[in-house]
Amino acid sequence: MPLTSFAELNLLPPLRRALDHLGYAVPTPIQAQAIPHLLAGRDLLGCAQTGTGKTAAFALPMLQRLAQDRRRPAPKAARALVLTPTRELAVQIADSFRAYGRHLPLTMAVVYGGVGHIPQVRACARGVDVLVATPGRLLDLMGQGLIRLDSLEVFVLDEADRMLDMGFLPDIKRVLSVLPARRQTLFFSATMPPAIAGLADGMLKDPVKVAVTPAATPVELIEQRVLFVSQADKRALLGEVLKDAGITRALIFTRTKHGADRVARQLDGLNVATGVIHGNKSQNARQQALDLFRSGRTRVLVATDIAARGIDVEGISHVINYDLPHEPESYVHRIGRTGRAGAEGVAISFCGSDERAQLRQIEKLIHQSVPVVEDHPFRLRLAPPPVAARPPRSGQGRRHHYGGRSSAGRV
Ligand code: AMP
Repeated sequence: MPLTSFAELNLLPPLRRALDHLGYAVPTPIQAQAIPHLLAGRDLLGCAQTGTGKTAAFALPMLQRLAQDRRRPAPKAARALVLTPTRELAVQIADSFRAYGRHLPLTMAVVYGGVGHIPQVRACARGVDVLVATPGRLLDLMGQGLIRLDSLEVFVLDEADRMLDMGFLPDIKRVLSVLPARRQTLFFSATMPPAIAGLADGMLKDPVKVAVTPAATPVELIEQRVLFVSQADKRALLGEVLKDAGITRALIFTRTKHGADRVARQLDGLNVATGVIHGNKSQNARQQALDLFRSGRTRVLVATDIAARGIDVEGISHVINYDLPHEPESYVHRIGRTGRAGAEGVAISFCGSDERAQLRQIEKLIHQSVPVVEDHPFRLRLAPPPVAARPPRSGQGRRHHYGGRSSAGRV
């Protein structure tokens, strides 16, 4: 019988209170499946990506274990470690731990690269219950004798597939080599190719296996539309689309870093509050763009696929694919950023004549055809219309709506 309420999970009252405060009423599938085993001390192999509620799935039982077996961490030591590939994820996970553990007397610290060492070193000096870290900075501080993991009780490896993509395998092995053999280990990955399964095998003892698909499955929860448009008209179309006030928080994807910068500049020119994140931006710039977007001070965030992976911002009303991705799976990841945790979201894709094959691939993958918006001013026709018949560029004329179910009848 699947568990349907947090009450059935036997969580400590302070954790339950924190969940009430956050408005979590029902555990997500990965929470319902993983938490009882984790509370019993089992290792876990979780096939799940961001958006499934996996952070709470590991954070809640970890906090419970640490709180029930209350012992002081040794100086510079951590009792539990979450290793995650990027600074953004580290900050996000640390925020989740703070939110879930707000009524518990546990300490935590987060370490990542790209910023000064001193505050991080200071946060770890007296030892912490929970440490969230990215690999490079963690090894750096371990090498200087400023962090010790020899008394670790719980180890979580988050986004293992992405860690390997980013070349962190040697770092992971170095971290593993100093961990005590007696520990609880949790391993999460969105995908399980053989290299990942092999890594998991070497780290886990008789693990419980849990596999879930993202909570926001595009097919059921996200309203998708495609707008055919020439490459040359995409800029103008974006300006037109963003006039819709129903688009309150939009994540725009481009294929290249260059393209992301170009779109962001264009939107700045249109006085649309816009941020941009991609791999050429410094950690600080990325975090700042993300914070501004999350707090609503910017309405639009332009991103590349790599930079946006794993980013969790609530309330994204629209995902706009300025370019279609080459890999159809990326489309699913992209549009999964809207419609999180059961909310409705809209995904709008611009499709140039050179992107039709990509659209077909996507439709094959998601087993449905994406409804076409015929009624927009830059509609690409197979035979170009005579010049005189082309629509006005300056946005005069009828107002179009791209903003949600209420306008679904128009597509
Ligand atoms: P995660 O996959 O851990 O990044 O979580 C995705 C989003 O779902 C986050 O914004 C969480 O705050 C939210 N969330 C996690 N668990 C629940 C739950 N049981 N009920 C409602 N929201 C949740």
